[in-house]
Amino acid sequence: MKTNPSFSIEEKITNTPIAKKVKATTKNFEITPTSPNIKDHIQGKKHIHLSAKRGEIMNLCASLDNEYICCAVHVLHVVSNCPYNCTYCFLQNYLTNNTLSVVADTKAIIKEIKQKIKAQPWRLFRIGTWELGDSLALEPHTNQSQELAQSFATLPNALLDLRTKSDLVDNLLPLDHKQKTIVSWTLNTKTIINKEELKTANLTQRLAAMKKTTDAGYLTSIHFDPMILYDNWEADYSDLVKELFQKIPSNKIAWISIGSLRFNPEMKKLLEQNYPSSKLTAQEMIAGTDNKMRYAKPLRLKMYQHLLKEIKKYQGSEEILIHLCMERWDVWKKLFGTYPKSIAELDYNFANSLHQRFPQIVPQTPNLKKYLENTY
Ligand code: SF4
Repeated sequence: MKTNPSFSIEEKITNTPIAKKVKATTKNFEITPTSPNIKDHIQGKKHIHLSAKRGEIMNLCASLDNEYICCAVHVLHVVSNCPYNCTYCFLQNYLTNNTLSVVADTKAIIKEIKQKIKAQPWRLFRIGTWELGDSLALEPHTNQSQELAQSFATLPNALLDLRTKSDLVDNLLPLDHKQKTIVSWTLNTKTIINKEELKTANLTQRLAAMKKTTDAGYLTSIHFDPMILYDNWEADYSDLVKELFQKIPSNKIAWISIGSLRFNPEMKKLLEQNYPSSKLTAQEMIAGTDNKMRYAKPLRLKMYQHLLKEIKKYQGSEEILIHLCMERWDVWKKLFGTYPKSIAELDYNFANSLHQRFPQIVPQTPNLKKYLENTY
């Protein structure tokens, strides 16, 4: 975050490390009993509120839908809103209070995680912090990902999944992370980053940051999502994959996800209003049964097939787990020739793939029966 935001700190958490850091680094803060309620999406990005933890903070990803083959990642709702301006960001249509908020009580968050992972010791939990924001965009202000990564290094059956469009990784580099944190990037072509992912790190900066973290021993995961159609998309996505693998060896990539542009019909109006120069809504899209607008299925498949072909060119003998985000079994089958029969099976596939490729992180052989008995 390059501009200087203002801060508010809830009375209850003024002694947490995050609150202390903010108090030590800026005078532009006030102590408040509750969060301000900023209605405007863009204005909300300019003020950071540090809040206490209220209720449960760890849940399954809210996009989980039994109509799709979802990956069953868990998410921590530690941030809400984001300093970046991706034109397609669903938060502009989702948040009722747009104040950029951070749950600053990291100790209480870790306590909840420990209780939940202990209840299912057979399971490998992948736990992200990106559902309602970017995992690292606020790191220079909060150090929260550093605190979390230090704690995850000691947890037996959980991986922290930090997902970002930033290059703000320096805090993570000196840690004894035991590879229990995956530092992940959402990648897109240079054209899309420049035109639609405003204020984020550019591709060169993201890849340089990825190189820094993989050199520091972290594994990474890559999210080609949302893939977006425009005139030169095929050549540009080919270049993107080539640049990635030129910089990062395939044995440092824990998994790859692929998805395409999707949004609720109500968001179209907001997107055009907030970002009038964006061309995203010019393409023809159709509503799925989940009421989200997407490109027509043959077009999506064409994009996925192209990307997969390019990935396969460079991945060598590494069996990287590649999955689709928010797609049905028929798209999986056409793309991969096969598909996991359930969310449970895909959750198991993650654990098994990591166990096979990185036994130092997942030493326990995952038990398929246990996964299949679980309810998602
Ligand atoms: S980085 Fe993610 S959360 Fe932030 S604006 Fe972009 S899409 Fe939204």
